[in-house]
Amino acid sequence: MEKMNQYDAVIIGFGKGGKTMAGTLGAAGRKVALIERSSMMYGGTCINVGCIPTKSLVYRAGLTMARGGDFKDKADAYREAMAQKDSLTAKLRKKNYDKLDSNPNITVLDGTASFVSPHVVEVVNGGERYEVEGKMIFINTGSSAFVPPIEGLKDNPYVYTSEGLLSRRELPEKLVIIGGGYIGVEFSSIYASFGSEVTILQDGDIFLPREDAEIAGEVKKSLEARGIRVLTGVRTKAVRQGGGKAIVDLEGRDGLVELEADAVLVATGRRPNTEDLNLKAAGVEVNARGGIITDDSLRTTAPHIYAMGDVRGGLQFTYISLDDFRIVKSSVLGDGSYDLKKRGAVPYSVFLDPPFSRVGMSEKEALEAGYKVKVAKLAAAAIPKAQVLEQPAGLLKAVIDEETGLILGAHLFCEESYELINMIKLAMDAKVPYTVLRDTIYTHPTMSEAFNDLFAV
Ligand SMILES: Cc1cc2nc3c(=O)[nH]c(=O)nc-3n(C[C@H](O)[C@H](O)[C@H](O)COP(=O)(O)OP(=O)(O)OC[C@H]3O[C@@H](n4cnc5c(N)ncnc54)[C@H](O)[C@@H]3O)c2cc1C
Repeated sequence: MEKMNQYDAVIIGFGKGGKTMAGTLGAAGRKVALIERSSMMYGGTCINVGCIPTKSLVYRAGLTMARGGDFKDKADAYREAMAQKDSLTAKLRKKNYDKLDSNPNITVLDGTASFVSPHVVEVVNGGERYEVEGKMIFINTGSSAFVPPIEGLKDNPYVYTSEGLLSRRELPEKLVIIGGGYIGVEFSSIYASFGSEVTILQDGDIFLPREDAEIAGEVKKSLEARGIRVLTGVRTKAVRQGGGKAIVDLEGRDGLVELEADAVLVATGRRPNTEDLNLKAAGVEVNARGGIITDDSLRTTAPHIYAMGDVRGGLQFTYISLDDFRIVKSSVLGDGSYDLKKRGAVPYSVFLDPPFSRVGMSEKEALEAGYKVKVAKLAAAAIPKAQVLEQPAGLLKAVIDEETGLILGAHLFCEESYELINMIKLAMDAKVPYTVLRDTIYTHPTMSEAFNDLFAV
């Protein structure tokens, strides 16, 4: 135990919420220590192994698909895309580090943090070990891929989590994805565009079970039209190694089946990173899924400790971590008026080809909640811009409260839906009725002008 440093704030984890909090507190003159366990993770999951590298690959995969060519050409394009992704993430990592490091009020400490007592955190970095003390502490340690206890998933050179696959240099000819959630589906689209033969394995019978059934059906149809096999109602029993490949043993409606793969992606969800933190020593409690329990101001069960982002075990998006920061900032530096109850509608996008985006309730959820609803629907093929982009696949659906005319939710499976959905979110939060979106002027030809027709219900 060599040194004990005292800080106004100790932040554990260099994620979106943590780094933004560090910058804000540093600018306000507070003495801040930010602890990060990996120098390859400055800036957090999003820029290093999450949103940014995957979206860089989505972009390159789209170019590769449009260019065509044989598997060898595509494997070359994949290698180039991986190099481009690596240089982009390295640039962003450095930018993130420099931004905090250049502030004299902020000290970035390399090492793994764990609590010794409510105000004291131990930092371990190789052989080095010391303690820091914080008047306030902010936990922003994110989440990690969950690997289920299926035989042959651990220590198997053919098996990857999303993070591992993002550093595989060679394009797999055959990719099997265990898990039909958003990360699995997004990877299926990327690798199919690069030319891999992709199979998604899902143990449940319903594809995208949380989504509107009609839209989920359209997404499945579109993936299948691109050659992606979607197997529902199958249980992965084991992943073996044999003949320079992986062999996936499945049990489905037709009994036992074997699938051969060059790579197997395990995409079966992510769990909060709380295990290393020794939270008991700080009096911070977690829920059954390991997520840190907080109140609406994101205060944990220890009142001087806050939690932000994936570590809370809720929605896993970068913009949620950022909005968590806004809540904590309001509590620590403001009047506390912005809290979880004030959060507006939360949209999300899955970057497929075309992308799928959603905000708010589905028709089924709205009916269950007791609303009388009108449902607006439009085939993407009816949108001139979709035709210009040569991507007429897809469907747009919006759910409207018949009584007030307010939008309750929207499911958009079409080109540029990741932009359109933000306009609907704004309309929902600002309580703008659907008729305004229906009757306004939009530039042409754009995807947003589709709202003229979608809302003409
Ligand atoms: C493949 C993939 C694609 C994604 N795509 C999108 C997308 O398109 N859009 C979107 O919004 N979200 C996306 N996400 C989710 C998004 O990346 C996460 O929700 C977000 O990055 C979580 O941020 P955070 O602030 O909670 O923590 P993180 O960014 O995860 O940061 C936590 C940091 O804490 C560090 N840490 C952990 N434990 C300790 C410890 N004990 N001591 C010190 N440091 C520690 C970790 O190394 C890490 O750097 C994606 C995720 C993945 C995996």
